[in-house]
Amino acid sequence: ARGRPLPRLPSWAVCAATLLQPKVAPTVLLLVKSGGPKAVPDWQSCFRRHDPRLDVRCWTDPGVDPAAVRYVVVWEPEEGRLSAMTGLRAVFSSAAGVDHITRVADWPRHLPLVRMGGDDTAQRMGEYISWSCLSLLRDARTFALAQPEGRWAHRETRFSAPQRTVGILGLGNLGAAAARMLQGLGFPVRGWSRSRKALPGVESFAGAEELPAFLAGTDILVCLLPSTPETAGLIGAELLVQLPAGAGLVSAGRGQHVVEPDLVAALDSGHLSGAVMDVFATEPLPPDSPLWRHPRITVTPHIASMASRQERARYVAEAIAAQEAGRPLPNLFDPAKGY
Ligand code: NDP
Repeated sequence: ARGRPLPRLPSWAVCAATLLQPKVAPTVLLLVKSGGPKAVPDWQSCFRRHDPRLDVRCWTDPGVDPAAVRYVVVWEPEEGRLSAMTGLRAVFSSAAGVDHITRVADWPRHLPLVRMGGDDTAQRMGEYISWSCLSLLRDARTFALAQPEGRWAHRETRFSAPQRTVGILGLGNLGAAAARMLQGLGFPVRGWSRSRKALPGVESFAGAEELPAFLAGTDILVCLLPSTPETAGLIGAELLVQLPAGAGLVSAGRGQHVVEPDLVAALDSGHLSGAVMDVFATEPLPPDSPLWRHPRITVTPHIASMASRQERARYVAEAIAAQEAGRPLPNLFDPAKGY
């Protein structure tokens, strides 16, 4: 039969053959900038478990044509990178906050910007806030300072959880999860947000006009706000003075919320009894910052809540599948609200 022309198939047969062909879904190119190049093999194996169609590449892979990229998972993208990706369908923040993307001049405003969500992020933030509030309640900083000196800093514990009200600035996904855990520990909980909330057992305060009443009854102030022009510098001298004497602060939203010299002044004057800080105006916190060595401040290096790669890959893969199937994306950034 070699050399002999193949018989022409009737058009109905071509049609049937095409329909019967196994469908091979096209690969979808996803770039990841989170954890550096060393983390990429781990990201690839995490994503493979959830959607093998995703071709996961490193943010700095020189072999990638920017126009072929369909999705990105990023932390602090450099200027010019996102706008060069002309075939992009959505941007995923590798964290719950998106201010590290929206401050880049050329971030693609016409595309959906998805904030990292999911149960693991909320669980971990709830754990951090619970640990911080218990640390302040039991004055853990005093014992941490006494230990290297071999000093037996015996003292009575003044309060138990039911006697200290925790006030959460920002009662969104993370604030609500933290509230539930704190209630489980016995803390009375109140929250402040833009719109009123109906969370069981949580006293809700809304808007600027209700902020003074919220602060007046707060013994431990927890910040879980997003970074926006409205929330920048909110936790300064004017706000701190409205807290009862001896109050504590947990700062886990963004460093831009706290006026650091005002916080140090409130601690030095004794008006505040202690602070646990995870986020700072400059990160990493510079070695010469007075916050490092302050006897009333516990510093952690922005580790309050980062879901596991496996969980983040699952969340992103499910969102991409939704988008590709024409279903809505979860947890979208709202440009009108700024978060
Ligand atoms: P959400 O958007 O779910 O919640 C934000 C909350 O803040 C909402 O309750 C919102 O009010 C409230 N809010 C925003 N602006 C104002 C305002 N001007 N006045 C009063 N209330 C306001 O965000 P998430 O809970 O998912 O995350 C919160 C923030 O936590 C992130 O933006 C990020 O900065 C930070 N974060 C920190 C991490 C860390 O490791 N330290 C990890 C993850 C996140 P309303 O409900 O009425 O809209």
